[in-house]
Amino acid sequence: MKTIYILALGEIDPTIVNAIKTEVTIIFQVPTKVLATVSNPAYAFDQKRCQYYSTKILKEITAQLPDDGLRILGITEVDLCTPVLTFVFGEAHLKGISAVISLTRLRQEFYQLPANKTLLLHRAMKEAVHELGHTFGLVHCNDKQCVICFSPNVLSVDHKGHGFCPMCQQALANRLVEIIEINGKTTGEGR
Ligand SMILES: [Zn+2]
Ligand SMILES: [Zn+2]
Repeated sequence: MKTIYILALGEIDPTIVNAIKTEVTIIFQVPTKVLATVSNPAYAFDQKRCQYYSTKILKEITAQLPDDGLRILGITEVDLCTPVLTFVFGEAHLKGISAVISLTRLRQEFYQLPANKTLLLHRAMKEAVHELGHTFGLVHCNDKQCVICFSPNVLSVDHKGHGFCPMCQQALANRLVEIIEINGKTTGEGR
């Protein structure tokens, strides 16, 4: 079974990394490992916007996927954006191998509210699963409780659940079976 890798881009609170690792393992039923922390994604910085382009980060971390890697999830404290969106909680390549999430706007402090670690952990776990869900081919769901529904703001992140709705769960299960079969065949041919 291939592994989902987690990559901290800059210093990330280990409690958050571990909470995400546990959640990802449970939801995707795939072994999850944490890679050695790399530096802040300075290459993605845009001086005009004072934000970081998530798509550039995806490109960079895709190249860092270990040989036995199935997916790679970057976690960063920097604020992310795309050319057309003022901010993103995260981004992923649909049916791709990489995803990235930012903790900036998941923190209560960003909204001038007192810090809340529990809330932050829940939000980070949901966004990690959301973005990784896209890499497994899942698209935004209309069920507002489903973890892969689109969240325009942090309140809607709080409103949704940690897991997929039954339909998305089934789609994910089908996709995982496909991936395992493909990997099995690849191994078979190599022998
Ligand atoms: Zn999404
Ligand atoms: Zn759904």
